[in-house]
Amino acid sequence: MLLDIHGARGSMPVGTAEFARYGGDTTCYSLHHDEGDLVTIIDAGTGLRLLVPQISKPGTTVTIVLTHYHWDHIQGLSMCAPMWQGDLSLRIIGPGDVAGAVSGAISPPWFPVPIADMKIEFVSAPESFHIGEVEVTTFPLNHPQGGLGYRFNHDGRSVVVATDHEAGTDADQALVRRSEGADMLVHDAQYLPSEIESKRGWGHSTWEQAVAMASQAGAGQLLMASHDPSRSDAAVDDLVARSVDLFPQAAGASCADRFSL
Ligand SMILES: [Zn+2]
Repeated sequence: MLLDIHGARGSMPVGTAEFARYGGDTTCYSLHHDEGDLVTIIDAGTGLRLLVPQISKPGTTVTIVLTHYHWDHIQGLSMCAPMWQGDLSLRIIGPGDVAGAVSGAISPPWFPVPIADMKIEFVSAPESFHIGEVEVTTFPLNHPQGGLGYRFNHDGRSVVVATDHEAGTDADQALVRRSEGADMLVHDAQYLPSEIESKRGWGHSTWEQAVAMASQAGAGQLLMASHDPSRSDAAVDDLVARSVDLFPQAAGASCADRFSL
């Protein structure tokens, strides 16, 4: 499988030069069997705009899985031109009432056109399902209004995506269990340990907690994500360097990165 990063910024997009390398777009990943074979899009943050050329051929079928419905994870739907033009066969899978959540956010007066008028199949995420040949399992994350983590297995390889998760509750056990032996764990690493006390309940983890989760799960690689919108490239580099000291196969999710799993 190939995992492409189109956006890994948390909370809101940022556009100034000091954020350029890790990227200013909010969360969006895509998963492929191999070159050119798009399997699924994970979260529809503003990074989704970068996938539009790939999904613009009439007749294209795409599945988007959403971890939750905060703005930074769905805002890219507003820029998904092939969807608005009706050229895309689209299925959106997410926790709970996905149709209600997405159409509640993307409709007048917050957006000119109601997404409910588009031809989209909305599916409440079951605990396990398939997207083509890829086996997908879901598990709850600790995040305000809830959230889902996803594990994708294909051909003996696996990646777990847990972009927004606050460590320190019973939900950690499910995350570690679902991530056991994964080739890659994509995990929230928004905060520094020195920041967490003032951010409790905001739904995000520190890089130390991300490292602990990857270590407990025995993950092959750790990709740290959901970068704080005020954290510059230099500051993310510093955070990554500290993580690598403890977990050598750690990296910061960066726009335009591609990982072969
Ligand atoms: Zn969120």
